[in-house]
Amino acid sequence: MEIRKILRRKTKEVSVGKVLIGGNNPISVQSMTTTKTSDLKATLNQIKKLVEAGCEIVRVAVPDEASVENIPKIKEKISIPLVADIHFDYRLALKSIEAGVDKIRINPGTIGGLTKVKEILKKAKKRGIPIRVGLNTGSLPKKFQRTKNLAFTLAQGAAEYGAFLEENGFKDIVFSVKSSSPLVTINAYRLLAKKTEHPFHLGITEAGTYLSGTVKSSIGLGVLLEEGIGDTIRVSLTTNPVKEVLVGIEILKALGLKKGADLVSCPTCSRCEIDLIPLAEKVEKKLMKVKLPIKVAVMGCVVNGPGEAKEADIGIAGGKKAGVLFKHGKVVRKVSEDRLLEVLFEEIDLLEKGN
Ligand code: SF4
Repeated sequence: MEIRKILRRKTKEVSVGKVLIGGNNPISVQSMTTTKTSDLKATLNQIKKLVEAGCEIVRVAVPDEASVENIPKIKEKISIPLVADIHFDYRLALKSIEAGVDKIRINPGTIGGLTKVKEILKKAKKRGIPIRVGLNTGSLPKKFQRTKNLAFTLAQGAAEYGAFLEENGFKDIVFSVKSSSPLVTINAYRLLAKKTEHPFHLGITEAGTYLSGTVKSSIGLGVLLEEGIGDTIRVSLTTNPVKEVLVGIEILKALGLKKGADLVSCPTCSRCEIDLIPLAEKVEKKLMKVKLPIKVAVMGCVVNGPGEAKEADIGIAGGKKAGVLFKHGKVVRKVSEDRLLEVLFEEIDLLEKGN
């Protein structure tokens, strides 16, 4: 049976600084800093690490004036677009736009009355920056709070808010309709996709710690992305945000929506006679920096090892305190266990150089 091709939903294109969201543009990976935005040094340090991991758009919370003051200083030092996350005080949105952010995220449930929102629209339009209308089930607008059908409410709320923005001449809109439940989130985005052509920022909100958050995000985002829904993603995890970026990239790679190196490794079992788990972990870490779409197999024994290793660009199939090295489907040589990592790294480097 043929694998179903992912057909991306047709959406309008929105520019967030130099990154284009929607249209035929690649799905971008975002994250959000966990530092105090008023702490310039800590925030810049974290953004640097996020960028190194592959983050393409970064969001900072702007809860006070001190954070607004740091926006131009952050912008000056970073190469990726900066998004300001605003709640409760619309004046912070106005000041953030003046300070040079590339996008504003507002939440209809926390930003206040529509007269205030009109002022944000006017200013964002003048500066030519987009607005993300981000609804979360944890902070729904009052009129929707008693609802039982959360997915419908999220989609309806976003559509109504979007209509208000459009009636006021504002078109550069990105939507998000997030819940901590993957099922609610999936259905909310599906419903909203029938109502609008604006691009979507996908995420499962408050998804949990590294383990549970990764699972919920992979399921929620995975289902939607496979259906062609989603133009930019953020994996929300209660941990170092660098992991959000790494997980986001892996989700896109797993669906063939982003190019990059792929690791195939077995879980090991009693047949394995080399210390495979740390070896696979070290190879995975190295592959995170490899942009080339190569496949590397790290396999424990001859049961599935030769088959997987042959399918990969480079692979090893473990034996007794040694491994057989495969390259482009062919056996190259036997390598002793203590040299396996070194040899795999050398071969990965050679592939990166085009050999
Ligand atoms: S490849 Fe070999 S060692 Fe790895 S899980 Fe399969 S049987 Fe076990």
